[in-house]
Amino acid sequence: MVKKKSIKVAKKAKAKKTVRISLKEKKMREIKKELIAQKKALLSEAVEALNKLPGQIVFPDLGDQASAEIDRSFMLRLRGRERKLLKKIEDAIDRIEQGLFGICDRCGEAIDIKRLEARPVTTMCIECKTQQEEEEKLREK
Ligand SMILES: [Zn+2]
Repeated sequence: MVKKKSIKVAKKAKAKKTVRISLKEKKMREIKKELIAQKKALLSEAVEALNKLPGQIVFPDLGDQASAEIDRSFMLRLRGRERKLLKKIEDAIDRIEQGLFGICDRCGEAIDIKRLEARPVTTMCIECKTQQEEEEKLREK
């Protein structure tokens, strides 16, 4: 009986270790779920925006037509941004599936999990992102 008990304890200790590993995995799964939800929301928004686009409407005068064209180009720009974000989300999901998620594109270091949770589409650690933003600011000047 005593022997059986000790085996049980050993198993328990092993299980504890597994739990600690899967905690990170669990977070990754949560992030992935969040990304998929974001993707779905983005797609339905894009479809909604598309449906709102003026289609085969005959405008009574040139004035109205001009303003309609401004609206349309604005919508297209909006969809372009949505497309860009959609690609970022898809890339992040891909990285999770390939086990590359959370690794900085620039320095190859692990990105802080809190940063990933707040901004899962990020591909850079905070240090590299700050550096890149400063470089972009310099280029704009
Ligand atoms: Zn980095």
